[in-house]
Amino acid sequence: MLFGSIEAGGTKFVCAIGNEKGEIKERVSFPTTVPEETMKAVIEFFETYKKDLKALGVGSFGPIDIHPASETYGYITSTPKLAWQNFDFVGTLKKSFDIPVAWTTDVNAAAYGEYVFGNGKGLSSVVYFTVGTGVGGGALQEGRFVEGFSHPEMGHMLVVPHPDDKDFEGACPFHGNHCLEGMAAGPAIEKRNGRKGQDIPIDDPFWQIEAEYIAQCAYNTTLMMSPDVIIFGGGVMKQRHMVEKVHRAFTKMMNSYVKTPDLDQYIVTPALEDNAGTMGCLALAKEAELHSH
Ligand code: ADP
Ligand code: ZN
Repeated sequence: MLFGSIEAGGTKFVCAIGNEKGEIKERVSFPTTVPEETMKAVIEFFETYKKDLKALGVGSFGPIDIHPASETYGYITSTPKLAWQNFDFVGTLKKSFDIPVAWTTDVNAAAYGEYVFGNGKGLSSVVYFTVGTGVGGGALQEGRFVEGFSHPEMGHMLVVPHPDDKDFEGACPFHGNHCLEGMAAGPAIEKRNGRKGQDIPIDDPFWQIEAEYIAQCAYNTTLMMSPDVIIFGGGVMKQRHMVEKVHRAFTKMMNSYVKTPDLDQYIVTPALEDNAGTMGCLALAKEAELHSH
């Protein structure tokens, strides 16, 4: 039984074929241009496997419509990427493939991957953040995504500007210097430092500032949800020294108010590393297939 995974990102789409164990058989990637072009490449890729393909799992950039009863369910909605605004993603797939399609946000898909196969395995409450081009967050409670009128937008949570960072105006066009994404995502790092995160040496004092923003995120998440684990992935977390800095800043900030699980198991990076999204989409596809009977 084969499942398909589509990680729809703002710069590229990663498509994969795999099985219910999350084993990836083939993976390709296409640049995100306009829907006609990108979706054509996606559909052509899966056509090859059509005979054995049982379901698709999509983790998409957003905002997206996740409400099954809505007329625009399965659409990308108000994205700043104009060509993709109000694009019927699930409907487009359904035209070519008469199989179940699981539909969620990119970060929810990665959260699900960690929940099924990674550092959230066996736990009942898992929160996952990606710190990359943006900051995104997704939460699972007993295997279900936490959501209401829409999916969470945790990346834009309020943060207090760091005392050594008062002059930085932030990089979020909506929330200035009080927004986690605007202060701590890759583009904010580049705007403030004049170079990309991967080019900043590990002993640069900037990393302490970055760690304190991420610690604020872990602090807010802990007080809001008391989850079993908080997982931080994404390009910026490739800085391996960050986790320990985050632990220390978090401990100081929390000031013993809440007794969390041991920080080495509580604030962690993804066990699946860059495969969390793909494996999550495969697992979501499998779930969609199960529920279609
Ligand atoms: P995306 O968020 O687009 O899916 P990534 O999670 O890879 O992709 O995030 C890309 C961002 O992460 C870029 O802003 C990049 O500068 C930053 N980044 C990538 N690698 C590193 C690294 N080793 N250290 C710090 N920042 C990094
Ligand atoms: Zn913001």
